[in-house]
Amino acid sequence: MIDHPETDLNSQIEQALQLWLSDNKKQLSLLLLSWYDTAGRDLPWRCTKNPYLIWLSEIMLQQTQVTTVKTYYHRFITAWPTLSALAAAAETDILKAWEGLGYYSRARNLLKTARLVAEQYGGQFPENYQALLKLPGIGEYTAGALMSIAFNQPYPAVDGNVVRVSARLAAAHLSNQKPHNRKKVTAFIRELMPVDRPGDFNEALMDLGATLCVPAAPHCEICPLSGICQAYLTNRVSLFPVSRQRRLPREEKHIVLLTTKGDRVLVHQKTGQGLLAGLYCFDWLKITKNEQKTDEHNRIDHQVSFQIKPAPDDPVQIEMSPEQVIGQLRLIFPDAGIIDLGRHRHVFTHIRWYLHGFLIDQPYNRDQDTPKDPAADFWADEQQLQALPIARALEIYRQRWLDWSRHKKEPGRT
Ligand code: SF4
Repeated sequence: MIDHPETDLNSQIEQALQLWLSDNKKQLSLLLLSWYDTAGRDLPWRCTKNPYLIWLSEIMLQQTQVTTVKTYYHRFITAWPTLSALAAAAETDILKAWEGLGYYSRARNLLKTARLVAEQYGGQFPENYQALLKLPGIGEYTAGALMSIAFNQPYPAVDGNVVRVSARLAAAHLSNQKPHNRKKVTAFIRELMPVDRPGDFNEALMDLGATLCVPAAPHCEICPLSGICQAYLTNRVSLFPVSRQRRLPREEKHIVLLTTKGDRVLVHQKTGQGLLAGLYCFDWLKITKNEQKTDEHNRIDHQVSFQIKPAPDDPVQIEMSPEQVIGQLRLIFPDAGIIDLGRHRHVFTHIRWYLHGFLIDQPYNRDQDTPKDPAADFWADEQQLQALPIARALEIYRQRWLDWSRHKKEPGRT
């Protein structure tokens, strides 16, 4: 006999969802919405049905805490109160305003979508789910949120919170790591949505998942759904949703080089589609375990030949000694002052960067020092450096350079 564990699991999930629906379908929206009417979160984007503002807030909320988003939301609606104002903005200004919020592809897609909506739809978001899905940065969750909140249409908005709440309500072995589980949850939620308040229903589920039905230690004792929550009633809350062990983030080491001449530092704008596209960076070298420099950012390898080895026995903490790096830099830049700017760790969801910064202080000769790529590189002074959108991982080095530059100019210093 052949076992089909995945098929069995899928049919168990379907059964659990259907069984729960047949018993509790009518009660859920009543319980949830009456709780939401008194305990829902008071958020700045909740007082509007303006699709532009709802879209803006939903894009910012992706992978970001509500408290962080509030500041950026106000900043954006003050600078660009309408979609047409945003569509007319320069990408550099958008990236600068987004600085610190992370996941910059969201900001770039924000601008692309604003321009598309301005050009193709006369500045109004289309009231059509499929058309929304074609816009950059809008996936099923954001399209569902827009359709339901802005246009009052019964479209689910399913994110990790909603999968978790659904898994617990029905005691279904759903997992957030399995994309096809989202489809099951979307169909489940569609069955539950009230036609008169679809937007409030989605927002109520978001609030419940964010405030009560949280991943660890949910507040079941005060949850309005505890009487119909199968996981709670059978004392199995901790089993749902099913979780797999998360993969550890990849680890990378970089040397960051702040090449300085006179009162300026060399910066360059990242092009392409990568993690930092559109942002300004300093030069850097990626140090790999096999001693090769492979990173596309490694733009100065024609000048710099490092003999730096990560220690073989410790893939994380092994770092080249600062003295070794300074020694190498002195060979390459014999006339420059070399300053150790210290280490810094920056964590993305899937990558962990270990950075070590060095300042190379060279005399500036305006006639000789032309950028390698004049379209993307330039020597920035203090004011310019502060105004540029810069990768968050490098902010600490920007600040250290600014401190160093100001200190250097103090009266009495040479
Ligand atoms: S009773 Fe507990 S597990 Fe069930 S929905 Fe409420 S908070 Fe979540």
